[in-house]
Amino acid sequence: MEWIKEEERRIPVISNVDVLIAGGGVAGIAAALAAARLGAKVLLVERYGFLGGMATAGLVITVPPMNNGLQLEIAQRLQEMGAYASLKSLSEYYSKNDVSAYTHAFDPEALKLVSIKMLKESGVHLLLHSLIVKACVENNTIYGVIIENKSGRQAIRARVVVDATGDADVAAFANAPFEKEKFENMLPVTLMFNITGVNLKEFYNSGFNLSRIREIIEEGVKTGKLDFKLKTKPTKNAPGVYAEATIHEGEINVWGGSLEGIDGTNAEDLTKAEIITREEAWKLVTFLKREVPGFESARIEYTATQVGIRETRRILGEYTLTIEDIKNKKSFKDIVAKPYLHSTIAVPYRCLIPKKIDNLLVAGRCISVTSDALPPLRTIPACISTGQAAGSAAALSVSNNVKPRMLSISLLQESLIKQNVDLGFN
Ligand SMILES: Cc1cc2nc3c(=O)[nH]c(=O)nc-3n(C[C@H](O)[C@H](O)[C@H](O)COP(=O)(O)OP(=O)(O)OC[C@H]3O[C@@H](n4cnc5c(N)ncnc54)[C@H](O)[C@@H]3O)c2cc1C
Repeated sequence: MEWIKEEERRIPVISNVDVLIAGGGVAGIAAALAAARLGAKVLLVERYGFLGGMATAGLVITVPPMNNGLQLEIAQRLQEMGAYASLKSLSEYYSKNDVSAYTHAFDPEALKLVSIKMLKESGVHLLLHSLIVKACVENNTIYGVIIENKSGRQAIRARVVVDATGDADVAAFANAPFEKEKFENMLPVTLMFNITGVNLKEFYNSGFNLSRIREIIEEGVKTGKLDFKLKTKPTKNAPGVYAEATIHEGEINVWGGSLEGIDGTNAEDLTKAEIITREEAWKLVTFLKREVPGFESARIEYTATQVGIRETRRILGEYTLTIEDIKNKKSFKDIVAKPYLHSTIAVPYRCLIPKKIDNLLVAGRCISVTSDALPPLRTIPACISTGQAAGSAAALSVSNNVKPRMLSISLLQESLIKQNVDLGFN
């Protein structure tokens, strides 16, 4: 390979904070809110011009119920805007057997707005359109994080960094150990999109059901009416082709099929995935319009800003949660998060602490779990919970002047319980 050598240069330090939150997906939003509310000076850096990550940019808008801690608070704020609801009533109206009856849904545009409002109310400083590209490390401590944006290359100093990039970018830049499946074993990627103009009543009255949309597509492929290249069947914890109603009448949210062999930390792979999945989405909707009652006036309302990435790097933390832990309902003295209220899955604090680096915590889908244990822990509510725990731990480490790995667990747990987080203690 040909190389060029970058010239040495001085980089301006634009911010010096207690806690830097890297990435503004749901985990980063929760981490920033929790840290700022505990009195830390917090900066959140996000590469896009809006927050939410997969929950907005990825158009992942259906969730298991969000019912404790910041999960609940965010759901309530969305509800006040008429932008969060259980799909139960909708589904019952159309079909008694629809699986979407057990799901909640939100409007991604409302999440973009409400997250910024909440961060502002809590005093979090926000820097959008900025990509984190490097972590400068000395004596196992990150002393600067480098970002690139339209203003050039800039540096940020922070006493504690929370990596909520989904891909553990900061941990990787800091040379903290991580795991990544071989690309052929990684969970598949999926382009999510919304279709509008659907007459669901007519669709159901014609004997169809949203949860059977996969069969309709497969039938189209079988009869030669649809040339579709992506996997339609559920594989590796991805539903293939799938659809849910949304909170808006006439709109459905579609999982546009599974594409395997894509590494979400490789730009060539991501480019390939964007090209293939967008082409297939258009074909799929054209087929539905032509062949399926209720879809005659349907059109793609919008596709996700980027293809949906389920899994990339996971840090190797002080503890790695396994599928056996989940199956055995293993309890941990240092529990700091659960994916949902009353869940038997416990996330110990050690899963958020990477090995080797002293002032780094990790939240969201890149925490220290094995690949097969990831599915319940990468849901949106679970990422909010690990974000809340990591942000709280970061702020408490700063105020108590200790390294995150030396923080008193009982202090952290007491704080989380005060924040209405369910840790299973009575
Ligand atoms: C197709 C698909 C379907 C899913 N279905 C469901 C579902 O039905 N229900 C459910 O609950 N969950 C579902 N999930 C899982 C869930 O959406 C995600 O796991 C979760 O939203 C991840 O949140 P996060 O904050 O950890 O990461 P992300 O959402 O990935 O957020 C990371 C943020 O960091 C930013 N960022 C990344 N790198 C950098 C950098 N270097 N510099 C600056 N910013 C950076 C990103 O732009 C992003 O905003 C699904 C996921 C996919 C892909």
